[in-house]
Amino acid sequence: MQASWADDPTLAWIGLGANLGERDAALRQAVRAIAALPGTQMRRVSSLYRSAPVDAGGPDYLNAVLEIATRLDAHALLAALQDIEHSAGRERPYRNAPRTLDLDILLYGEQCITTLALTVPHPRMHERAFVLQPLAELAPERVPPEALRAVAGQAIERCQDGGWLAG
Ligand code: ATP
Ligand code: CA
Ligand code: CA
Repeated sequence: MQASWADDPTLAWIGLGANLGERDAALRQAVRAIAALPGTQMRRVSSLYRSAPVDAGGPDYLNAVLEIATRLDAHALLAALQDIEHSAGRERPYRNAPRTLDLDILLYGEQCITTLALTVPHPRMHERAFVLQPLAELAPERVPPEALRAVAGQAIERCQDGGWLAG
């Protein structure tokens, strides 16, 4: 058996963001590509949110969170997500630069992972309303109320329910 392939699927939550190009089309395409990964099933998607860039300029972001069940281990999942970002034209000229697509692993089951390539839970998720609000729609038990309260002052707008995925 390959090390990257588990017998039982793990529930994972992926944060999606885009602030360049056809943002909603890029997020829809990303969801389709993630759902097509080997050993991976899409379960649910959050509403679509709009948020202003943090610590950077550029257009507003569209954000959402996707819940999957996957047999890929966390590092294989990260590599697959980076391939999908690359296919969407993602470039990294500088930190927090505007991007056509950003895919972050927020949670991978109950696992805590700290390697050079990957930290899970995502180390900055609790600072970000655009992550916590959509995540709380899908997995409220994973988002403490005090964490949501701490980001309540951030300007984000829920612009469409989960139907956004249908286009
Ligand atoms: P942030 O991580 O603050 O949201 P970002 O998404 O703009 O910033 P990227 O340039 O997309 O950062 O990623 C930088 C590196 O972060 C990646 O090369 C990846 O190895 C690493 N990384 C660590 N933990 C995670 C995670 N949970 N999900 C995705 N990438 C991660
Ligand atoms: Ca990110
Ligand atoms: Ca990222």
